[in-house]
Amino acid sequence: MQDRTYTADAEPGDTVTVAGWAHEIRDLGGIAFLIVRDTTGKIQVKFEKDEMDDDLVETGTDVNRESVVKVSGDVEEEPRAPTDVEIVPDSVEVIAAAEPELPLDPSGKVDADLSTRLDNRTLDLRKDEQKAIFEIRAEILRSVREAFRELGSTEINTPKIVATGTEGGTELFPITYFGQEAFMNQSPQLFKQLMVGSGLERVFEIGPIFRAEEHNTPRHLNEATSIDFESAFFDYEDAMDACETVVKAAYEGVAENCQAELEALGYEEFEAPSGEFPRLTYEEAIERINATGALDDQLVWGDDLPTEGETALGDDVGSHYFITDWPSEIKPFYIKDHDDDPELSTGFDLMHPSMELVSGGQREHRYDRLVEGFEQQGLDPEAFDYYTKMFKYGMPPHAGWGLGGERLVMTMLGLENIREAVLFPRDRQRLSP
Ligand code: ATP
Ligand code: MG
Repeated sequence: MQDRTYTADAEPGDTVTVAGWAHEIRDLGGIAFLIVRDTTGKIQVKFEKDEMDDDLVETGTDVNRESVVKVSGDVEEEPRAPTDVEIVPDSVEVIAAAEPELPLDPSGKVDADLSTRLDNRTLDLRKDEQKAIFEIRAEILRSVREAFRELGSTEINTPKIVATGTEGGTELFPITYFGQEAFMNQSPQLFKQLMVGSGLERVFEIGPIFRAEEHNTPRHLNEATSIDFESAFFDYEDAMDACETVVKAAYEGVAENCQAELEALGYEEFEAPSGEFPRLTYEEAIERINATGALDDQLVWGDDLPTEGETALGDDVGSHYFITDWPSEIKPFYIKDHDDDPELSTGFDLMHPSMELVSGGQREHRYDRLVEGFEQQGLDPEAFDYYTKMFKYGMPPHAGWGLGGERLVMTMLGLENIREAVLFPRDRQRLSP
């Protein structure tokens, strides 16, 4: 429809054809209004019953809500209309009628539970607040891509069907690949590392990760979007700097380009984080958690941080922060240990006050140490030969990280459930739509 005008562009004096959804019909007796909604907003269409053709009035006022309509007419100024203008129609056409009963109310007047909303995402995303989340998600991805390019990295796409997982057989979804067992990849970790030894050196990938995690939480999905970065000749501090830059760029992009969407979500003010993200060592982190008194049992060196501990520390710090220098034991084997202390790893996490956003670190690039790591982990290095053998032919020191895309959207917008940040979430209960 080349001749279509967006409702937001209709100016008094114009003759336009708008097309969209019948948002609301208000019949006041002698006069009736049809509100047409499209992706840019809404416009009022006025029907004066005594003065207009009966068929025209009937078509425009008997239409079921949420039907797709096309309206042509003159735009006039009208201070009492919601957008200060209205269309006086000379034709109204119902292009696709909606049934009178809808599974959820796109005007938002009647609340629907999350499950009903996800079952009817098309209707759900006719609401400004829900649409806003995905406009913002798109802006976040645009801004991080731009930030990665400014960091001199190349976007890559690595396979999602793999013969072996990143960290062994746990949490993997098995599939059948021409009669052979294969898996959905849980992380691009090994492939992006292979690229730092290639001529590309510095890479990023935005793509799906698949995790067969059994638990059902508000912050885990079985298919998530991972924002990954890896660079040759970076140490773990360089990697943290890049991480901070990219996360801040996402906030800045939204602050600059998503005013209307933030308003739809009820924001009066939205501020990108300023100042450096504090970097706490794991040891400082457990001391601070213990000092809050939030946990029944005090944490000791070597413990992983329980969720309540992370929350208490997040409240205490009050901003994004890194946790560095984790015990080597609780970080994956491909993370390098500190040269002067093998008990300490160069692994780090970036935390939002409410949850983990990123895990990263400097990688083990020495062939012998890497193969030892596989063995210590109980993994057969032979199965990962495609990966380890490249470490024999000149693999530079390197570092990188993986950022959960949905967690970034969720924490930025204060969403209560990560499923709100995915169009069609995959979880224990949900495989369709
Ligand atoms: P968590 O401890 O919170 O389950 P993780 O440490 O297992 O996360 P990593 O393997 O470190 O996750 O993955 C890097 C990032 O990817 C995480 O910090 C998180 O933001 C995101 N992520 C990982 N697993 C999931 C998931 N199941 N659903 C959504 N995001 C995830
Ligand atoms: Mg992690």
